[in-house]
Amino acid sequence: MLANTIKGLVKRLVKPKRAVPDRISREQHGIDRRLVSRHAIKVCETLQQAGFDAYIVGGAVRDLIIGLEPKDFDVATNATPEQIRSLFRRARIIGRRFQLVHVVFGQEIIETSTFRAPASNGQMTDDHGRILRDNVFGSQKQDAERRDLTINALYYDPITETVIDFHEGVPDLKNRVVRMIGDPATRYREDPVRMLRAVRFAVKLNGKIESATQAPIAELADLLGNVPAARVFDEMLKLLTCGQAMECVKQLRTHGLHSGTLPLLDVILEDPEGQAFIELALERTDKRIRVGKSVSPSFLFAALLWPQVRSQWQRLCADGEQRIPALSEAADQVLDAQTEKLAINRRFSSDMRDIWFMQPRFERRLPKAIYRLFEQPRFRAAVDFMQMRAACHEVDSVLAQWWMDLADANDEGRSDMIQALAEEPREEGVATKRRRRPRRKKPADAAALQSSSVS
Ligand code: ATP
Ligand code: MG
Repeated sequence: MLANTIKGLVKRLVKPKRAVPDRISREQHGIDRRLVSRHAIKVCETLQQAGFDAYIVGGAVRDLIIGLEPKDFDVATNATPEQIRSLFRRARIIGRRFQLVHVVFGQEIIETSTFRAPASNGQMTDDHGRILRDNVFGSQKQDAERRDLTINALYYDPITETVIDFHEGVPDLKNRVVRMIGDPATRYREDPVRMLRAVRFAVKLNGKIESATQAPIAELADLLGNVPAARVFDEMLKLLTCGQAMECVKQLRTHGLHSGTLPLLDVILEDPEGQAFIELALERTDKRIRVGKSVSPSFLFAALLWPQVRSQWQRLCADGEQRIPALSEAADQVLDAQTEKLAINRRFSSDMRDIWFMQPRFERRLPKAIYRLFEQPRFRAAVDFMQMRAACHEVDSVLAQWWMDLADANDEGRSDMIQALAEEPREEGVATKRRRRPRRKKPADAAALQSSSVS
């Protein structure tokens, strides 16, 4: 590995900038064609038969070379969007400025785009050098140059099974080195999200960021503040669902990129309880991803922000506020602080609140309220959330297990559990107050429970 790295370095130093790319044969790149989508092959074939160049490009080639199954396939070609569309029965042009074509095969969409040139100097950038437009058609070489990392600028021709490599991406990939194409500082200024991408791919490859690519990050990290918050959110979601979330979060912190993404992370990770909770949440997320299960963004962000919400909540309660309004205020404060940097979609933030607000309600376990909770759309997620809190000794694990059993039970089992609970002497804090109500209320509650219909 070290020998390879040194060899690569020497080669890079002595070799003049090449006009022609490396053409890498199957024996060298080792792509197993059986892992390639037949629809992506079909798109390349059809375009090539019509006289165009067409390659599978980007993340799919990177993943194929390292033996991972790509999650989707993109094609790049010198055909224009109109020309692409005319060759396929089910194809539509999408995007106005940045036009590309979706070629549709049943469930699978092959995103097919025309080679593009890098943005020409200055004109289409903001004051910090951030590119605002990037939609000029160009040659394949130019298309490679505008991509972010050498490992992401590879073109695979599935017909000849050759990989075209303009930036020595294949050796970088084999050595697990993340290297920016061009001058890293300029490329980060053009698009600060590339800093997050560099971190994500270094973790994904279990490799490292090459030193010149890493050097400017500390200084430029603040530029993330100029990126639309929704885009930062999308990238953070990719980072947290890449299968190695905790490592990504740690790396973000090491590179000083957390203040532009998760500003509260420092505070959280410095508190051992907060850190334990987040580690557990991210571990669970990684496990789900590894076995191919989906992860809900609201659950993930509810967990990431919980330590902060919780400590704020405790503070407000200590100041004498009632538990539920205090939780609401704590949630507002944390979400407000967070949303400045990372626009958490309104739909997600309302789900996050639901998950949080069910927590004190779970602790009360009033039979009548149980069905109301059960009917909430985020009930299952909130129960899972409570399991994590129990694992971190925030709540009683027997109570958390009761809710899990309830969530897993069928209708009959559930009524039995609630019936048994109604018959138990109440032991929980808030419920004790209610015991002072007239006795007749209790059977009425129980009857209401029996007759409620729960799907
Ligand atoms: P994955 O989809 O696994 O997250 P990917 O590399 O396919 O990884 P996409 O966001 O799907 O990432 O982008 C596809 C390709 O577009 C990349 O491989 C890269 O070549 C190029 N690209 C994406 N984002 C940028 C960027 N910010 N700057 C330059 N090129 C980019
Ligand atoms: Mg992709």
